[in-house]
Amino acid sequence: YNVKMGDFDPLKEIGRGQFGVVRQVFHRPTKVVMAMKEIRLQLDELQLNQILMELNVLHQAHCPYIVDFYGAFFIESCVYYCMEYMECGSLDRMFSIGCPEPVLSRIAYSMVRGLKFLKDQFSIIHRDVKPTNVLVNIKGEVKLCDFGVSGKLNASLARTRVGCENYMAPERIKEGATDKGYTVQSDIWSLGISLIETATGKYPYPLSGQPAHSMFVIMKDIVDGPSPSVDPAQYSPDCCDFIAACLRKEPKDRPSYAELLEHPFLTKYQAEDVDMAGWAQKGFENIQS
Ligand code: ADP
Repeated sequence: YNVKMGDFDPLKEIGRGQFGVVRQVFHRPTKVVMAMKEIRLQLDELQLNQILMELNVLHQAHCPYIVDFYGAFFIESCVYYCMEYMECGSLDRMFSIGCPEPVLSRIAYSMVRGLKFLKDQFSIIHRDVKPTNVLVNIKGEVKLCDFGVSGKLNASLARTRVGCENYMAPERIKEGATDKGYTVQSDIWSLGISLIETATGKYPYPLSGQPAHSMFVIMKDIVDGPSPSVDPAQYSPDCCDFIAACLRKEPKDRPSYAELLEHPFLTKYQAEDVDMAGWAQKGFENIQS
């Protein structure tokens, strides 16, 4: 289906990102409530068309662990990206309600499945794994968004960070964080950091002082310091081991996605009934109030 602006009714604003607004919208022809992300870019029509072409690959990407793509179009210098509406928003909005270990396991499982799907089906490396790029819906489903499907779009969004939180693997910082030679191992590091933050509700490196200074100290810490971990008194040995494996300093020592999926921290809770919907509901009510 070819989405176009005239087919939508605006419902409400749901978030503001670095490059524009995300709105909840109603798509009249299909009667589907969607999330529409506006991305402001200084590009000409040719370049915008190239981005749309690259994004259209996503029409083939149906995976329960990836936020569904409904289509994109541009008006003047804005790209409008239409996707599945996820009621609870990004994972960081759920931090305040806490995250019991079984829920953390399911989140980790979904993230690994999503990342593996992108890699296997599209040879895509996410490159920006962090809690704000993981969305949760009211059923408690956890899905990835904002992955680098369009090289052109990626290059156009100078991905400067607003916060100090840095999810970059030590090898990325050491090599100057260019896109060259980026491998899935670097995404696995970012997964490990995201899981600690989700478990504890706190970014694991100390944030202190002026943002610019703090950022510098953190990057040095990521490269030279020991990897962060979760408290073994509060988390099971399987959980601690899973996170420690993702955060091995040497990229080649980190497990593959297939190995992570076999890890007891993930398999244990796959066999159990985990109330993801209950957790999502609680988070949703918390966001509303
Ligand atoms: P950023 O530029 O920081 O990545 P985004 O522009 O992607 O932020 O999104 C801003 C906020 O909008 C997110 O933090 C998230 O809570 C919300 N959001 C993004 N996409 C969706 C979606 N598909 N459904 C519901 N909420 C969303």
